[in-house]
Amino acid sequence: MTDPQPADAGRRAELASALTALEGRLAAACSAAGRPRADVRLVAVTKTHPAGDVLALVGLGVHDVGENRDQEAAAKAAAVRQALGGAAADLRWHFVGALQTNKAASVASYAALVHSVDRAALVGALSKGAVRADRTLGVLLQVSLDGDPARGGAVAADLPALADLVAGSPGLRLAGVMAVAPREAPPERAFAELAGLAATLRASHPAAVEISAGMSGDLEAAVAAGATYVRVGTALLGLRAPLSR
Ligand SMILES: *Cc1c(COP(=O)(O)O)cnc(C)c1O
Repeated sequence: MTDPQPADAGRRAELASALTALEGRLAAACSAAGRPRADVRLVAVTKTHPAGDVLALVGLGVHDVGENRDQEAAAKAAAVRQALGGAAADLRWHFVGALQTNKAASVASYAALVHSVDRAALVGALSKGAVRADRTLGVLLQVSLDGDPARGGAVAADLPALADLVAGSPGLRLAGVMAVAPREAPPERAFAELAGLAATLRASHPAAVEISAGMSGDLEAAVAAGATYVRVGTALLGLRAPLSR
């Protein structure tokens, strides 16, 4: 594997200034919500952006990066691992996208946390992959807040059984819930609903404390509603190529 092309000085400056601005937003959102800044972790969603950008972000103190396609993520994670050597152990890869069952074993080999688990078949495949890789994989149950199956997520009624399945699967650790706010409705309402589902889940799985919610456009509403992870792409890395999602 060839070393990743490092980001040039201009790009590094651009990322540094975007990160400073984003940190300002996160600090303000936490302060408005009366929450310590340390309660909310930033996942930098680097999909479509090169491994050099990941390395630049690591240089700026970012420890969590997110991707939504296995093929791209696996290659990027390998390139970054090679460039960072031992320091790569501090970097956590988050898988945040729609996941096909046949990609689950690959994802289990490099991801720390999968945010998008929404069906039983995926649980079995991730568990097998994690066991084979001798790793423990954190799992967030993705919830559909608008009932639109095209956008992924389990309906609320299916969460308890899915949670029990994850909790009983070797190699997996049930970490919490995740959602993407529906496009048409105010994010406040969606994130409040997610917080309610998270509380219900914690009643039977007390260690499942994480709430992954909020992106570039709605992170303030997510922090107000209790998000512990925000997943930010555009506000940090800029616009993605038009064909990517
Ligand atoms: C791309 C993506 C994000 C980041 O979205 P931005 O609006 O660019 O911040 C967050 N979550 C998921 C699931 C994504 O696919």
